[in-house]
Amino acid sequence: VTFTDLGLDPKILKALGDLGYVKPTPIQAKAIPAALQQRDVLGIAQTGTGKTGAFTLPTMHKLAKGRARARMPRCVIVCPTRELAAQVAKDVEAYGKYLKLEMALLIGGVSFAEQDRKLMKGVDILIATPGRLIDQFERGKILMTGVQTLIVDEADRMLDMGFIPDIEKIFDMTPFTRQVLFFSATMPSEIKRLVDQFLHQPVSIQI
Ligand code: AMP
Repeated sequence: VTFTDLGLDPKILKALGDLGYVKPTPIQAKAIPAALQQRDVLGIAQTGTGKTGAFTLPTMHKLAKGRARARMPRCVIVCPTRELAAQVAKDVEAYGKYLKLEMALLIGGVSFAEQDRKLMKGVDILIATPGRLIDQFERGKILMTGVQTLIVDEADRMLDMGFIPDIEKIFDMTPFTRQVLFFSATMPSEIKRLVDQFLHQPVSIQI
């Protein structure tokens, strides 16, 4: 399989070519078609497997059409730490260099004023840590009604950090109709329970 076979937007293919990526990794080869078919995806995969591409590439393909409205992100990616959020943002930037998608980081340590200016302009992909996301939602700075895709990265680390109540809250904040792409390196019972509660007949991929 090549990225072209997966039917990704030519602008994404061009960016992948610039990075020298020829073939999808095993998790990408399985997750991308499922996500493009609008399925919920449960990916059980470690860092280093290409999991970030597995959830960002199909999502960016779908977002390439359409525009975000003020304060209404179309995709939210929740990460356990600022560092991981910044890493995901770097990948989104690289994959999206030929797309006109607006992206914002919503993490501690970045000024509210700067984040708010971006949100006001309209953000397609919002990459956030749980606390800051809930905080800005509760202040009315973010509307979740436009969220088409909710992505949870490194769910088991969220568990270790005590973020499960926050993740449940974030699921409840988003429309029932959203697609969920959910990634975890391991599947402890608390994570299984979350998956059973919030994912709809997910395609389960274990690498
Ligand atoms: P991740 O598991 O998302 O942290 O990705 C691991 C590393 O593999 C990152 O440095 C990516 O830039 C790189 N990578 C992701 N997808 C591919 C691919 N299809 N071909 C080559 N490298 C990739």
